[in-house]
Amino acid sequence: MEGRANSGFVVTADGVVVIDALASPRQGEQLLQTIRRVTNRPVTWLVLTHHHPDHHFGAVALRKAGARVIAHPDKRVLASEGGEDALIADWVRVVGLDAMRGFEFADTPDRPVTGSDTLRLGGKTIVISHPGPGHSPGDLMVWLPRERVLFAGDILVEDGVSMVVDGNSGELLRVLDTVSRMDARMVVPGHGAIPARPAGLVGLTRDYLAGLQGQMRSAVEKGVPMRRAMAGLAPADETRPVSLNSRKRRNAVRVYVEEERKYMGLESP
Ligand SMILES: [Zn+2]
Repeated sequence: MEGRANSGFVVTADGVVVIDALASPRQGEQLLQTIRRVTNRPVTWLVLTHHHPDHHFGAVALRKAGARVIAHPDKRVLASEGGEDALIADWVRVVGLDAMRGFEFADTPDRPVTGSDTLRLGGKTIVISHPGPGHSPGDLMVWLPRERVLFAGDILVEDGVSMVVDGNSGELLRVLDTVSRMDARMVVPGHGAIPARPAGLVGLTRDYLAGLQGQMRSAVEKGVPMRRAMAGLAPADETRPVSLNSRKRRNAVRVYVEEERKYMGLESP
């Protein structure tokens, strides 16, 4: 999970569709080289599953290679609240200055998707859809209906602890129901290994989120302040915002607030 994000590509007779661009121009370049070892067909589209830096900061490399970008137009994420310069500076500390050489923002969609859109290219059908703001407001999933392969983005991650700090746990649980109904043969999570059984990872994620909601709901109902509700959790790792402990803790803060809002009648369950 703390390692690099996943990325994939679909080769069609009329070009290549890439899903996610990795975390820096250098990684985007490496992705392009990987594609070039498989095919010489043009890179036609880059689909971004969402607007977190580890999934789109390599986009400039694919754009330069000719790809046009399909993404959700809502690019709001917590990480960029301090402005773009701060976001880039923070990211340089993660991937290093060298890997960021040639960086440009390249995640503005040429073809925005807010509902659902079907790409028919070189004999392949690729369905791109916004399942709801579970992991982030600009989430998209990529579905190959014939192959029954789903690129889930960060809706799913290898260890089942999907982040909701930019999204909403209730929304993500609804998204998981949608994913279940799709009955995918193969699911590519946003980080980590492809699970042997997609339903296993969906179930693990659902149990984690529902468990966290239950814990925080009972804390709110008993008037337990957030600080005390969090006491049982390991401290966040200061320099590792997406380590397992950090994710659990950051999610707990978010879900406590969600439950508090529900309790006050400000948010629907
Ligand atoms: Zn993400």
